[in-house]
Amino acid sequence: CGIVGYVGEKQAADFLVDGLTKLEYRGYDSAGIAVFDGEKIDIEKTVGRLAALKEKIKGHTPKGVIGIGHTRWATHGRPSDVNAHPHTDCSGKFAIVHNGIIENFMSLKEELIAKGHKFVSETDTEVVAHLIEDVYDGDFVKAVNAVLDRIEGSYSLVFMCQDYPDTLICTKKDNPLVIGLGDGENFIASDIPAIIAYTRRTYIMNDGEIAVVKKDSIWVTDRKGNPITKKVFEVNWNA
Ligand code: GLU
Repeated sequence: CGIVGYVGEKQAADFLVDGLTKLEYRGYDSAGIAVFDGEKIDIEKTVGRLAALKEKIKGHTPKGVIGIGHTRWATHGRPSDVNAHPHTDCSGKFAIVHNGIIENFMSLKEELIAKGHKFVSETDTEVVAHLIEDVYDGDFVKAVNAVLDRIEGSYSLVFMCQDYPDTLICTKKDNPLVIGLGDGENFIASDIPAIIAYTRRTYIMNDGEIAVVKKDSIWVTDRKGNPITKKVFEVNWNA
C-alpha cells in the first residue's frame, strides 16, 4: 500500500525505511526493501510492522545507493514473509514493488509456469517479476514496456535491474506515484509525505507515463517513447 524508491549517493536503506514510515497511515500488513550494491540485489522483507523489518535488518542493513521499498496491503495471497514485496524473478536479476492489482495474473502465471518459471509466492505481483525476466533482451526500458503491454489492472510499479546499477524505472495506472527531485539524488513514492523531508520539488506521474530515474536525471516518456516535459509541482504544505 506504500511504495518508495531511491537513487543517489547516500545509503538507500535509510530513506527507504524512513519513507515507508511516513506512509504508515495508509495501512499495511508487511514491509520490505531491496537494495542493490552493484553486485547483487539484497531483498529483506517480513510480515508485520515496519518495526519488525527494522529489527530484521539491524546490524546488517543492506548497503547500496539504489533501492526500492514497499508496505503491503494484501489483496492476493495472505500476509506472509514470502508474499511480502519486493518480488524477484528466477535469476534474481530484477526486483519490483507494486501497489494495486494485476487482474490477469492467473493466465500470465500459467503461461510463465509452462515456460519453466518457478513461482514462490501466492501474489498477483510476482507475475510482473517473471514476465520482465521473460521478455528482457538487455534493454530495460523496452522490457518494462513489454510488461505493460501484457498486464491488466491497476498499478504503481517500480523496477530495479542488476544490469542497470544506476537506474530505477517507474510507471503507474489508477494508483498514485510521485517523483521527488533532489540534488544528486531522486526519490520515488506513492505519496508526498514520504519525500517531503527530502525535497519539495516533485513530478506527479500520470497514467501511462514511464520514468527512467537516475541520480542526476529523470527521463519521462509516454508508452510510445515520446518524451514528456513534466512540470515541477512545488509542495507548499507541511506533512
Ligand atoms: N496486489 C498486491 C499484493 O497483494 C499488492 C497489494 C498492495 O497494493 O500493497 O501483494
